Amino acid sequence: MKPYESPWMDDDLRMLREAVSRFVETEMLPHEAQWRKQKHVDRGTWRKVGEAGFLLMDVPGEYGGGGGDFRHEAVLYEECNRRGLSGFGQGVHSIAAHYVLNYGTGEQKQRWLPRMASGELIGAIAMTEPGAGSDLKGIRTRAVREGDEYVVNGSKIFITNGSIATILMLVVRTDPNDRSRGLSILMVETENLPGYRVGRVLDKMGMAAQDTSELFFEDVRVPVGCLLGSEEGRGMHMLMGDLPYERLTIALGGVAAMEGAYEETVRYTRERQAFGQKIGDFQNTRFKLAEVATQVRVARVFVDRCIEQLVAGELDTETAAMAKWWVTDIQQKVMDECVQLFGGYGYMNEYLVCRMFADSRVQRIYGGTNEIMKELISRSI
Ligand SMILES: Cc1cc2nc3c(=O)[nH]c(=O)nc-3n(C[C@H](O)[C@H](O)[C@H](O)COP(=O)(O)OP(=O)(O)OC[C@H]3O[C@@H](n4cnc5c(N)ncnc54)[C@H](O)[C@@H]3O)c2cc1C
Repeated sequence: MKPYESPWMDDDLRMLREAVSRFVETEMLPHEAQWRKQKHVDRGTWRKVGEAGFLLMDVPGEYGGGGGDFRHEAVLYEECNRRGLSGFGQGVHSIAAHYVLNYGTGEQKQRWLPRMASGELIGAIAMTEPGAGSDLKGIRTRAVREGDEYVVNGSKIFITNGSIATILMLVVRTDPNDRSRGLSILMVETENLPGYRVGRVLDKMGMAAQDTSELFFEDVRVPVGCLLGSEEGRGMHMLMGDLPYERLTIALGGVAAMEGAYEETVRYTRERQAFGQKIGDFQNTRFKLAEVATQVRVARVFVDRCIEQLVAGELDTETAAMAKWWVTDIQQKVMDECVQLFGGYGYMNEYLVCRMFADSRVQRIYGGTNEIMKELISRSI
């Protein structure tokens, strides 16, 4: 089959991909089993990724970023996800940084972005609460202004990078009487912060190396200078504006994981023997691989188009939602077929397709569930 290359690739990006791929193979992949055992990625790895210049590649150089665009970020997503490195929460780190970039003052950008680009600060997005997931307007974590500080009380759940994060993009309620305009965003540095506590690192179906956690806030004092946006109450507005970026990162991760699983499965079916022949020679296997190859290619072409639109500043909410729900639905079907072709080995955690199958399930749930994506799309019809 003719190899496919994304139309947005160029010579610079090819060189970047080679460097990123080498880095992932030597500095990340050898530690992955340990990360899964300890349920988090080492903070030192974040530093190394930052030192290599691979964090915030689409943030301007004046703020410590790489000065590139989303295509540069995409290379790291792809190289991690095709190898099943689902514990490294680059996505939420970059998304949190983009809120600072898009809504922060000059002083706030200088305060946080260079340290996020170096890996000194590790970002997390803290929105979801036990009583508020899809329905974010139900957020209850309260921030009450007292002089030059906010006093924060409440809790968050399912927070990616939760236990190692040192800067939170924290969604809080500043007005208890206005469901939608009562939300605000605070950027909160968590190291040695009185009243802040990380709860359980949650025991999940997949993504074993990812420290998805509970967070607790008890009279946590946050300077008013950490409020994002020019005034209180702009939380929902800011969240809506940045969602296409977040949803595209999820879709892109899904495509890259499918590509990795497909390659592994082709390799395996060429080696494994049954009934005196390679399992790849059975007509069923050939047809299943033909289906998977088609599904992966169709997903890839759509996501590539979305990447081009994002880079051009033209990716709209509905198109990003389409990419998120459709790609992640297909991702789960593809992973299921790959596991099936591995037989019993496909059910063993030591095999990449097994881990990718388990990892893929949550793609339909987080970043806005796929039902919410369809809700969004349907409103524009
Ligand atoms: C591994 C993992 C990582 C996560 N990382 C983060 C993170 O970093 N930061 C963060 O803030 N959150 C994170 N989340 C939370 C995630 O975004 C939420 O779980 C998700 O938004 C769904 O919310 P919920 O779990 O409360 O489900 P609910 O909102 O209770 O939904 C339950 C079911 O009802 C459906 N439903 C709800 N409303 C509607 C509707 N209007 N129409 C049709 N169906 C509807 C949903 O689609 C779903 O099927 C993470 C979750 C997981 C599992």
